[in-house]
Amino acid sequence: VIELGTPERSVVTTCAYCGVGCSFKAEMQGDTLVRMVPWKQGKANRGHSCVKGRFAYGYAHHQDRILNPMIRDRITDPWREVSWDEALSFAATRLRALQEKHGQKSIGVITSSRCTNEETYLVQKLTRAVFMNNNTDTCARVCHSPTGYGLGQTFGTSAGTQDFDSVEKTDVVIVIGANPTDGHPVFASRLKKRLRAGAKLIVIDPRRIDLVKSAHVEAAHHLPLRPGTNVAVVTALAHVIVTEKLYDEEFIRTRCDWDEFQAYAEFVADPRHSPEATEELTRVPAADLREAARLFATGGNGAIYYGLGVTEHSQGSTTVMGIANLAMLTGNIGRPGVGVNPLRGQNNVQGSCDMGSFPHELPGYRHVKLPEVRKIFEDAWGVTIDPEPGLRIPNMLDAAVDGTFKGLYCQGEDILQSDPDTKHVAAGLAAMECVIVHDLFLNETANYAHVFLPGSTFLEKDGTFTNAERRINRVRKVMAPLNGYADWEITQMLANAMLKESGGANWTYTHPSQIMDEIAATTPSFAGVTYGMLDEKGSVQWPCNEDHPDGTPLMHVDEFMRGKGRFIVTEYVATDEKTGPRFPLLLTTGRVLSQYNVGAQTRRTANSVWHGEDVLEIHPHDAENRGLNEGDWVKLASRSGETALRAHVTERVAPGVVYTTFHHPDTQANVVTTDFSDWATNCPEYKVTAVQVSASNGP
Ligand code: SF4
Repeated sequence: VIELGTPERSVVTTCAYCGVGCSFKAEMQGDTLVRMVPWKQGKANRGHSCVKGRFAYGYAHHQDRILNPMIRDRITDPWREVSWDEALSFAATRLRALQEKHGQKSIGVITSSRCTNEETYLVQKLTRAVFMNNNTDTCARVCHSPTGYGLGQTFGTSAGTQDFDSVEKTDVVIVIGANPTDGHPVFASRLKKRLRAGAKLIVIDPRRIDLVKSAHVEAAHHLPLRPGTNVAVVTALAHVIVTEKLYDEEFIRTRCDWDEFQAYAEFVADPRHSPEATEELTRVPAADLREAARLFATGGNGAIYYGLGVTEHSQGSTTVMGIANLAMLTGNIGRPGVGVNPLRGQNNVQGSCDMGSFPHELPGYRHVKLPEVRKIFEDAWGVTIDPEPGLRIPNMLDAAVDGTFKGLYCQGEDILQSDPDTKHVAAGLAAMECVIVHDLFLNETANYAHVFLPGSTFLEKDGTFTNAERRINRVRKVMAPLNGYADWEITQMLANAMLKESGGANWTYTHPSQIMDEIAATTPSFAGVTYGMLDEKGSVQWPCNEDHPDGTPLMHVDEFMRGKGRFIVTEYVATDEKTGPRFPLLLTTGRVLSQYNVGAQTRRTANSVWHGEDVLEIHPHDAENRGLNEGDWVKLASRSGETALRAHVTERVAPGVVYTTFHHPDTQANVVTTDFSDWATNCPEYKVTAVQVSASNGP
């Protein structure tokens, strides 16, 4: 029996897990959070929540929290607790010494999509105005960077086109490479409600996800493609729409580049892209694919929702562009019930990208090479900004192994557990001479750190998160930071410690609202955003400026951000990751409802009772061939490495495909994933790994 008691006060804030961005009332007794109550006025969730936002907050008071800064000379030395001043001075001196010895570009940062917009803005400012380079990257690199590239190329900006309310007007929905029930539960409920009201569903996924088997959508079309063939499937859908003349010519003529459409139409109409010609490759029955294409083109308002099963591939950006092509082809852009909707994994992936945390873009998706853009920030910051794009995360690790990248400030990310090819990540970290980990817990990456800066939870700070529908939600401080400082303050202290080394500390923010004011002054899509208006309106969707004072629920209504929409030819190219006699199965990965990513938070909450370990889903045929039964320990091996976990025998995966989650450090599922990545953005190919599965005695 849990005694909840009567709350003395409540504070409205935003969930720090997934990109739905649910609003909650945090109910407090003194300094203790006693419960999270979904806030009825929250526009993203309208009073609903899932088990993560509602129950998984106990990590904030968990005994594993590190509350004092620590340093050590070598990673083999024991940690030494020190004052904030000593830790920051130690870090600043080391980073400056590395720059003096190895050059200005020998250090960089990795920011987190878990942090607020204001914190992320400050971290990229630290890189550009204090490190004086562009070596800033974000964990969006390893999830939705292909969305940035693909939607930027086709529509003109990296953002979902709709608000969540839009799903209530949709007639036919494609869900591709996403499992909303586990990944975006509150949105999944709204989608299921619409499906119960009669909307049709097409699921493109190697697994028979919950949406397919829900009783109320028994008629769902499931296209169980072979992992790695997204582009071929999307192009085959377009082939049917073009060759059967089901496309929306008026929309294309008025809204898109007609010449590019013609080139695209000629490309997809080629018989080699037909469902019949690609059936052997994709393993999707041609008749099912034809039926799905006809349904999407003729079924009324068509909406596409997608997730990391689209982006985390060697052709992630190509698939995003293929999805945009499908939406333009069928005229499904610019009104309620339609659109292209990336389901963002983390709470602030959208905001992290908006805030300029990629190495080639300043805030607002403006290339660092553009002098007129640099000038805006140079005037605001009083510095000269390097015009050369910086290093992406995998390039930082490669450069570290090569000996040219020496120092890293890693905020809110456990790259050793979350990034692919764990051995390579470890080699990169081990080669660096100054690794600063800024986090709540001594995570796996901290094994390679020289400085540990304790972080603060979302309950301990003010700021904003931007959800998957571009909605800027307020995060409000519920209790004082247990470590003494909110994360934005720590970044400011590090900046000033480094500036002191080289002349003069001059960062003087006293509240995150001042950082938002600076964002608004430098970034046109945020020009109308202030804390006052967010408090008044509850939330607002960008662009929010003079032209859109109340924000923008739907994008590209009259014209695309780039003017005319661009059709881009999407040629399928097979991944270099091949199955063969040694590694005959394909592994793909994902999440479960109760846990979150590497589990740093959820494993330290009551949610762990629902999901205590990662398991390997394997089809009964593949299990029988290997003499495996439900619950047996198995060895999962790839060309990169091997791990052990228990088998879950299920027809949810097709023969030849296995699936696991990556929530537990004991499993370290990313030991087996490869270093192949998206051709345009280097987003890792987590979703396709050739593996072998065999009986094992356990870890
Ligand atoms: Fe809402 Fe996502 Fe948080 Fe669940 S995890 S409460 S769906 S924001």
